[in-house]
Parts: sequence; C-alpha cells; structure tokens
Amino acid sequence: MRSTALSELTKHIEFEMKAVPRFGFVAGQWLSFKATKPDGEEITRAYSIASPPSEDNRFALCLNRVQDGFTSNYLCDMKVGDEIACSGPFGDFILRPPMRDTVFIATGTGIAPFRSMLHWLLAEESRHQGKQLSLVFGNRTEKDIYYHDEFLRLASEHANFHYRPTLSRGGSEWQGLRGYVQEHVPAIAQARTDMHAYVCGLDKMVKANRELLKSLGWDRKSILYEKYD
Ligand SMILES: Cc1cc2nc3c(=O)[nH]c(=O)nc-3n(C[C@H](O)[C@H](O)[C@H](O)COP(=O)(O)OP(=O)(O)OC[C@H]3O[C@@H](n4cnc5c(N)ncnc54)[C@H](O)[C@@H]3O)c2cc1C
Repeated sequence: MRSTALSELTKHIEFEMKAVPRFGFVAGQWLSFKATKPDGEEITRAYSIASPPSEDNRFALCLNRVQDGFTSNYLCDMKVGDEIACSGPFGDFILRPPMRDTVFIATGTGIAPFRSMLHWLLAEESRHQGKQLSLVFGNRTEKDIYYHDEFLRLASEHANFHYRPTLSRGGSEWQGLRGYVQEHVPAIAQARTDMHAYVCGLDKMVKANRELLKSLGWDRKSILYEKYD
C-alpha cells in the first residue's frame, strides 16, 4: 500500500488485493473492511473504491479520519506492508446504461466513487461521446478540494466534462463557486428530465439534492445516490 495526504484529515491510499492477479469491480462499487478493536470487538465498515477498474490487482480508497471513529483511523494509520481483510466488491451505485447527460454531486470523500466513474468514462471516447458530464464538488475551503488538479486536467482535456468545485468557506482569493452543492445544481439540471444525477456523501446533503431534483420535476428513478452515514 501507498498513501498520499489529500488534506490534514484525508488520505488517498492505494492497496493491492493479495488473493487475485486481477481485481474486477465496476466503477462506483465499495468494499467492506473488517477491523478488530483493542477490546476484541470486530467492526465492519464500507469504503467506496476511488480508482477506476484496471488490469491488475490494485485499487485506491479516499479516507477521511472520523473523530473518535475506529475503522477510518485504523486504515489511515496503516503502514506500507500492513495487511487488512476485506470483502466485495458490493453495491449498485454504478453507471446506468444507456449513458445520458449526467450530473455528479459530491461532498468530501463522497467524491470517491465519482473519481472511479469519471476516470473510467473519460478513458475511452465511446463511453462518453456526445454526453455532457458535470461534477459539482462541495467542500469547505480550498485545501479540502481532493483531487483538484486531476479534475482540472480532465476538464481541460475533455470539452464535455464540466468541473464545478464549490466552497462553503472559500477564502477571498477563491474565484470559483461558493455555497452548498445544491445551490449550483439548478443551473445544470433545471428543465432537464432526460439526465441522470448521481449523488454521494452524507445523508443531509444527499437528501437536500434529491428533494431539489424532485422539485425540478425529475423522476426519482433518474436520481441515484449513496449515503455514507
Ligand atoms: C457505501 C458506503 C461507502 C462509504 N465510503 C466511504 C469512503 O469512500 N470514504 C470514507 O471516508 N468513508 C466512507 N464511508 C463511511 C465509512 O463506512 C464509515 O462510516 C466512516 O469511516 C466512520 O467509520 P469509523 O469506524 O471510523 O467510525 P465509527 O466508529 O463508526 O463512528 C464514530 C462516530 O462518527 C460518526 N460517523 C460515522 N460515519 C461518519 C461519516 N462518514 N462522517 C462523519 N461522521 C461519521 C458516528 O455517528 C459516530 O458518532 C462509506 C459508507 C458507506 C455506507
């Protein structure tokens, strides 16, 4: 495993799946990790795969240290060479064919499945041709925007990928969007009932966006979501 700090409390950690030469999964799926607390209690937590499917046995997670949380801190404290058991992949928070114009809405580590989906989608022209893809990514401040340079690069390489980071507490230098993600969704989704929306993050944010899209006339089947809490 190899880890990179994404912010003070967040890490991008790359793992190798020891049991298999190739680890197959669909972008958007998650893994279940089992850790044992010092008192012997076993706990299991879900983590979205943050990397796109590849030809080998590697995958990455985007992990936030939750205050007083056990598993998130356990994983963030792992050192190169450490091992942990996991099972999966699980979940049906995956891209629904046929591909439509799509808005991806995330806050914090809710970006993980979208990093996987977007790298996969944009890797081949036929997967996204003729479709407009928007990512509305909400965070507090500039230093919390995980994978910012990567998404800027993808947007510069693909005219149909629109990257919209938004900050709720951006500094005076910040030139981008401000406020909560749901404030910027109508500009993309208003008067559109022929798109898909994928929403990922904490319950409160997911709920706010589902309600907003439904109030814009969207069918609930066009709104897919994953809640982290
Ligand atoms: C499908 C799915 C995918 C997920 N993917 C990711 C991911 O990619 N990256 C990631 O960092 N997390 C992800 N999570 C959240 C993760 O599973 C854990 O809930 C989180 O890491 C806390 O676990 P813990 O054992 O550290 O804390 P716990 O011991 O479970 O909780 C400690 C305290 O923190 C609160 N809490 C629990 N979860 C959260 C949270 N997510 N944010 C803030 N407070 C919380 C609890 O209410 C409790 O008070 C995902 C959850 C689900 C259901």
